[in-house]
Amino acid sequence: MTGKKLYLVVPCYNEEEIIQKTTEVLTEKIDRLIRENKIAPESRILFVNDGSRDNTLFFLHQATKQDPRIGVINFSANFGHQSAILAGMLYAADYADMVVTIDADLQQDIEALDEFIDCYSRGCDIVYGVRKDRNTDGALKKATATIYYKLLHWLGCNIITNHADYRLLSAKVIRVLAEYKEVNLFMRGLIPTLGFQSDIVYFDVKKREAGKSKYTVQKMVKLATDGITSLSIKPLRLITGLGLTTCLFGVFLAVFSLVGWIRGDNIAGYTTSILVTLIMNGVTLLSLGIIGEYIGKIYLEAKGRPRYIIDSVIWNKEEDKE
Ligand code: UDP
Ligand code: MG
Repeated sequence: MTGKKLYLVVPCYNEEEIIQKTTEVLTEKIDRLIRENKIAPESRILFVNDGSRDNTLFFLHQATKQDPRIGVINFSANFGHQSAILAGMLYAADYADMVVTIDADLQQDIEALDEFIDCYSRGCDIVYGVRKDRNTDGALKKATATIYYKLLHWLGCNIITNHADYRLLSAKVIRVLAEYKEVNLFMRGLIPTLGFQSDIVYFDVKKREAGKSKYTVQKMVKLATDGITSLSIKPLRLITGLGLTTCLFGVFLAVFSLVGWIRGDNIAGYTTSILVTLIMNGVTLLSLGIIGEYIGKIYLEAKGRPRYIIDSVIWNKEEDKE
């Protein structure tokens, strides 16, 4: 029995230092899996060039000439990692039985692919890659990631701790995902809400072999807020709760002050007034900011702009004729 068709989807943003090595390692792995009959010979690798400003596209173009099993979706600009993997998956789902998304920097252990495929063969439609530890992360990233996952769980999000975007989806699941038209995309939070039979595969994370992380602090903060706003409205409810509590406190203070005034007590209260004013203004502005974040997301969703723009596709479609 030959295996099913696997497509690897690899998002790339300014990865010129490593992209040649990546194409080599990934094609070798695909070849090995084909030889072992674990996947079909029509399996492919699809790179998504997310508006790189370096020579990534040039190297990818060369790779497609050397190996017709490599394809490239070339974005017109940088639309971000989540859009890149979405575009790759939607494209691949027309040809593949299963699709695995993996980063271009070879940090995620490619050998875990065997287990992903085993899970798929056993009937799983979704296989989540979960990193065994965070030893390759700096102290700050480790701490912020831990707090972030705790926060998401506390907000009631059904998210898998330490699962990033190394995962297998069956073509069936991707077709379901295609029905989700939201612009505010946070794949790792959305996919667990889809249901389907799923499993987890644990893998080692290595250090980046070349180049720097393409997730700037700005991109990380955006991903983190997108995650919260796309999965939960609990922050808005918390603001309501906070408002109610301060109102009750206000009523209590009002009664207390009135009674004091009637009795003719001398209320000094200067420090208290300053503190209450500062704290309340802070809380009000923070609450407005949180509400504003959601309104901003509604604004973006209302505009309904495309999530990415494809400039060109380099793809040897002849190879796909069945
Ligand atoms: N990436 C992307 N668009 C972006 C930023 C990153 O396609 O705007 C890709 C990047 O090339 C890599 C993957 O997303 O393949 C993960 O990025 P990176 O390894 O820099 O993130 P980290 O591992 O540091 O979290
Ligand atoms: Mg990385």
